[in-house]
Amino acid sequence: MTQLDAIRSIETFVISLPREVPYLGPLREGESINARGYLVRKGNKTIYPSTDMSVLIKITAESGLVGWGETYGIAAPEAVTSIIDELLGPVLLRRDPATPRVLHEELYDLMRVRGFFGGYYLDALAGVDIAIWDLLGKSLGVPLSTLLGGRRSSHLPAYVSGLPRATLQERCDMAVELIGRGYRAVKFAAVVSDDGVVREMAALREALGPDIQIFADLHWKYSAPDAIRLIRRLAEYDLACAEAPCQPEDLEGQAAVARSGYTPVALGEELRTVFEYRPRFEARAMGIIQPEIGHTGVTEFMQICDMARTFHIPVMPHASISCGIFMAASLQAASTLQNMPFHEYQHSIFDKNLPLVTGDMGCSDGFYHVPSGPGLGVAPSEAIFAHVRSQTSLRG
Ligand code: MG
Repeated sequence: MTQLDAIRSIETFVISLPREVPYLGPLREGESINARGYLVRKGNKTIYPSTDMSVLIKITAESGLVGWGETYGIAAPEAVTSIIDELLGPVLLRRDPATPRVLHEELYDLMRVRGFFGGYYLDALAGVDIAIWDLLGKSLGVPLSTLLGGRRSSHLPAYVSGLPRATLQERCDMAVELIGRGYRAVKFAAVVSDDGVVREMAALREALGPDIQIFADLHWKYSAPDAIRLIRRLAEYDLACAEAPCQPEDLEGQAAVARSGYTPVALGEELRTVFEYRPRFEARAMGIIQPEIGHTGVTEFMQICDMARTFHIPVMPHASISCGIFMAASLQAASTLQNMPFHEYQHSIFDKNLPLVTGDMGCSDGFYHVPSGPGLGVAPSEAIFAHVRSQTSLRG
């Protein structure tokens, strides 16, 4: 790469996409949408937007070549764009995008002594990191997976995540319908199991038969003893893994649940760096890890997955609300992993958002198709820019 390709501009776009039903299904008793468009789920005390929000990052080189990134924008997304516009962007201008890992480490260093080694700062860095990797792939004419060591397959097993329907019967029907299309695993959200978590598990097992893997997302809701008691009962219906049983800060609790041995504990969607993952590996608190590339970026994602390999732990990448850009990054990175049984498939989001990107990314018959083009293999389509809530622009 020549100096002609130095970074010339960095732009951000906050995207807000309407959705018919809020995340985790229809509003429940006592839940309402506030003046800023958010609702608090009583079940897990967590705030969610009533639209799907995301942050896109566009990095343009002197040659005119463009790299796209995306990061998590689920709440207060302008916090992320402000960090990019004010801190990360000006440092990146005129830099060589052929060195994504070097740039990642340099940008990570900028705020560490102030204690900003997680949260919004790392989300901003993740989005920028994805855009730089995309730019490098495009300039070399190869997919991101090639830059990361090589693709094992262009078809990745996908598990059905979430059954956003109001009643248990409707959720079972939805699961049966999706399994009928070739998927082999389903995850349900215990936080909306109004008829009881065990009853939901029993009904799903009855509906899906013995051969389909069922995962329960426990949404950080339980004390360790309560989680162990619950999981013991779910295990009677052959629970394949329990996600996030205890609060994120409760490392000892997660480890106790993992040690109980009824089913693997899956963790990590809220974590962003190897430094956050390391103590959880060392405590043997996870049997499966779930890094979300919208939080980690490509560089950290791969380092986290390398660390998982040293502990013989499989990776099931997490996939939350993406316009399709960080989804593509996640599929590119996941396609290089040796121990990746499933990639999460949020069907209600992924399918709806697919027209927002170009390229041949898709998910059907139980498998994701990893995009084939250079870099991420996708780029925003025109349709996405009808949903811009705010934007910033920085030129060198
Ligand atoms: Mg989860």
